[in-house]
Amino acid sequence: MSELISAPRGVYDILPEESEQWQWLESKLKHVIQLATYREIRVPLFEHTELFKRGVGETTDIVNKEMYTFLDKSDRSLTLRPEGTAGVVRAYLSNSMHRQTPPVKLWYFGPMFRYERTQTGRQRQFHQIGIEALGSAGPAIDAEVIVVANDCLQACGITEYRLEVNSIGCTECRPRYKELLKKALEEKLPMLCNDCKDRFNRNPLRMLDCKVETCRPHFVNLPSTIAELCAPCTEHWQGLLDGLQRAGLSPIINDRLVRGLDYYGRTVFEFISTDKRLGSQSTICAGGRYDYLIDTLGGSPTPAVGWAAGLERIRLVSSAPSGAGPSVFVVSSDDKAALVTATNLRRQGISCDMDFAPAGKPRNLGKQIERANKAGARFAVIQGEDELASNSVTVKDMKSGEQTRIPAEELLSWFDGKVGAAVACTAAHD
Ligand SMILES: [Zn+2]
Ligand SMILES: [Zn+2]
Repeated sequence: MSELISAPRGVYDILPEESEQWQWLESKLKHVIQLATYREIRVPLFEHTELFKRGVGETTDIVNKEMYTFLDKSDRSLTLRPEGTAGVVRAYLSNSMHRQTPPVKLWYFGPMFRYERTQTGRQRQFHQIGIEALGSAGPAIDAEVIVVANDCLQACGITEYRLEVNSIGCTECRPRYKELLKKALEEKLPMLCNDCKDRFNRNPLRMLDCKVETCRPHFVNLPSTIAELCAPCTEHWQGLLDGLQRAGLSPIINDRLVRGLDYYGRTVFEFISTDKRLGSQSTICAGGRYDYLIDTLGGSPTPAVGWAAGLERIRLVSSAPSGAGPSVFVVSSDDKAALVTATNLRRQGISCDMDFAPAGKPRNLGKQIERANKAGARFAVIQGEDELASNSVTVKDMKSGEQTRIPAEELLSWFDGKVGAAVACTAAHD
């Protein structure tokens, strides 16, 4: 025998019991997002490396340490997408979507790739769903994207979380805040980690992101981003808080919450799970306004806001049910007759399985009933020699054990209303 080949580190298989949960989550999320009239965009899994360098930021860990970058056979540098926004903005520009009536509201879903240390809820191939609204500057659209994120979590049965929001100002007021921050941290600099020292001059805002234990205690009595906002930023901020409140959300203002990259402006937010199963990986959805990104990627300045959520983490804290068994299992002494019955039921929208004997000859009916039970079938439709001879079937309720013999032609109508819930549930996915 040859040696088995294992999967690379950081990737994993989504097995059937789990993929049913994924489908459930995807359908819930898609439903909420599409009710808010965001439309799906499917962008490539790889792009020119340059796109992510500019669109994610040269100073980020993602670009510096975590990208899957490779040369193709023509020596072009390509990168597997580490996140969704850069590709969506690239597509928005390459397809002249800026000519559409703003805001252009888009959503995406799919695998992303980062070379990271693997831990709970963190893989090298992982999945994100996200929405982007391009072309509107007012706080109403910020509020909308946040409310949609909130309703997505609710739809997935997630209730233990908090929403943190902040405004990091604009190119007018942020430089002043950065100076104040540097002043406040200057004396403490020798005690801080190397990343902090490095960021002090390059991008002091990112120091607030530092997760190093020995740095955190020094981040006290710092200036507040909110207090330094210019008048238009303050008005935007108030508008956002008002919008969220009216939509029934109770955000927590966290004036330490930042996005360290220069193309972010004003609104930033995170949904943080308080479910212990996630450990320290507790951010389940994060986003913000990125008014300066489209510019950075070669388009004309366009205001934009969006978020991305990690499906692996969402699944861990959601109430996604594992897949149910079939509505019906056909038990028959003639496997060709069984296939006809199963096909007729399936064409009526009733999920149905039957026994396929390994040796080619139908197993005895008792063994088949056992299989129906094991498969979690709601009903068994039994067609033994007797039933086949009299053109009838016996329907067995697998919960109560009750059996009913009916003429074969009444079978389809017999199920009317009885497996309705299962059928409706399947239909709701589409
Ligand atoms: Zn401002
Ligand atoms: Zn630090």
